[in-house]
Amino acid sequence: KINGEKDSRKPRDKLIGGLLTEDFDEESCLSRYHSSLYRKPSPYKPSQYLLSKLRSYEMLHKRCGPGTKAYKEATKNLGHDQNLNTSVGECRYIVWIAVYGLGNRILTLSSLFLYALLTERIILLDQRTDISHLFCEPFPGTSWLLPLDFPLTDQLDSFNKNGSHCYGTMLKNHTIKWTTKENIPSYLCLYLIHDYEDHDKMFFCERDQNLIRQVPWLVFNANLYFIPSLWLIPSYQTELSKLFPQKDTVFHHLARYLFHPTNQVWGMITRSYNTYLSRADETLGIQVRVLTKPAGYFQHLMNQILACTKRENLLPEVAATESKVTNTSTRPKLISVLVTSLYPEYSENLRTMYWEGPSSTGDMVQVYQPSQEMYQQTDKKLHDQKALAEIYLLSLTDKLVTSNSSTFGYVAQGLGGLRPWILYKPKNQTNPCVKAISMEPCFLRAPIYGCQAKTVKITRFVRPCEDRLTGLKLV
Ligand code: GDP
Repeated sequence: KINGEKDSRKPRDKLIGGLLTEDFDEESCLSRYHSSLYRKPSPYKPSQYLLSKLRSYEMLHKRCGPGTKAYKEATKNLGHDQNLNTSVGECRYIVWIAVYGLGNRILTLSSLFLYALLTERIILLDQRTDISHLFCEPFPGTSWLLPLDFPLTDQLDSFNKNGSHCYGTMLKNHTIKWTTKENIPSYLCLYLIHDYEDHDKMFFCERDQNLIRQVPWLVFNANLYFIPSLWLIPSYQTELSKLFPQKDTVFHHLARYLFHPTNQVWGMITRSYNTYLSRADETLGIQVRVLTKPAGYFQHLMNQILACTKRENLLPEVAATESKVTNTSTRPKLISVLVTSLYPEYSENLRTMYWEGPSSTGDMVQVYQPSQEMYQQTDKKLHDQKALAEIYLLSLTDKLVTSNSSTFGYVAQGLGGLRPWILYKPKNQTNPCVKAISMEPCFLRAPIYGCQAKTVKITRFVRPCEDRLTGLKLV
């Protein structure tokens, strides 16, 4: 098994295929260079072009980031002068606002980072929440945190659906007064939240990209993984294909480049891993997200989980009596099951089941659930740290079962390079689960009409999601 000590003789790929730079000191963020001790080497290699693009991004971020002359210049007149941009400096920016749960946040951050790569901007993160307690800095010699004295800080929370500075609202109200050359505003908000409307979705149109490109500061209020639709904008397709010749690896590479848990979270991850997963012959992750209201324990969901693990041969059955156990001549395997859920009952039932009766194969099944938080407590530091630790632990398992439409599960599968079995919504499905067609997250509210209608139809590598037919994912 992959474990720091046991595998110390093997050369390990500390920089994960060149995704990471060597320019960080190890101690300040152990997860960055130690992840390769816990994770199996990925069969997916990043393209040389992506690597060179990342290195140039890092240089750009250093030149434009907080504390630089360029940043001072770019923020000087922000929000004044009737918001007109008097001089476009060399740097252009994307501001990420932290909204919704951790899975959503990680997916929008990745989407915005890729959008920054494509449009030669740098990304800065609203740090008023606990983001700095979750992730290490990914870019060397600079910071991705938006300084707290950023001139628009007080307005960030007003960039919502009908915000007068948001692109969709401006389209709707015909208040867009700039052309690609004149009257360019100093900033613009983009509203890409699941309840966004047709005007907001114009963000994904070529013509609108040409206008948006001119604006130095873009503030995103977003909770979606919108990368699949970037591929449907014709002018980005060539570049995207060069960056990701394997189209279903976008999130996998971006996530392993960007997201390195802080030492505190890494401690939680490694303690769990070493205690419960490292000695197993096989590991299985089961992510139980209950999106109904009320949420909690449901016997039909428990049955569905058992039906899925049985049908897909993910776990041995429990034999009716001791004498029904086959296969006892070979060495029994230790199978570790990592369950994540807000509720304790799913893992308790599973554990009890394998204690009360023997597994039909003679294999030993151990069940572990790191936390039972009972309800979502986003922005509470320790709660979010546990959520991140669990997402990461799921990504370290050999096989994964996830819940439909959950960004929490999407992140785990992408980080781990795993195609999960997705538990269907329990509604009138005959199958309990389906194996995902790719490890990519689903863009749960993708625009499929308007300017995107044609490209959606003809682009083979963008498909409806298994768990949301109106969603799109890369395959
Ligand atoms: P989604 O709502 O399933 O798409 O996932 P998000 O991560 O965006 O939001 C759900 C939030 O609820 C998480 O970020 C956690 O705060 C919490 N949560 C949900 N499921 C779990 C779980 O299995 N373990 C832990 N620790 N937290 C969870």
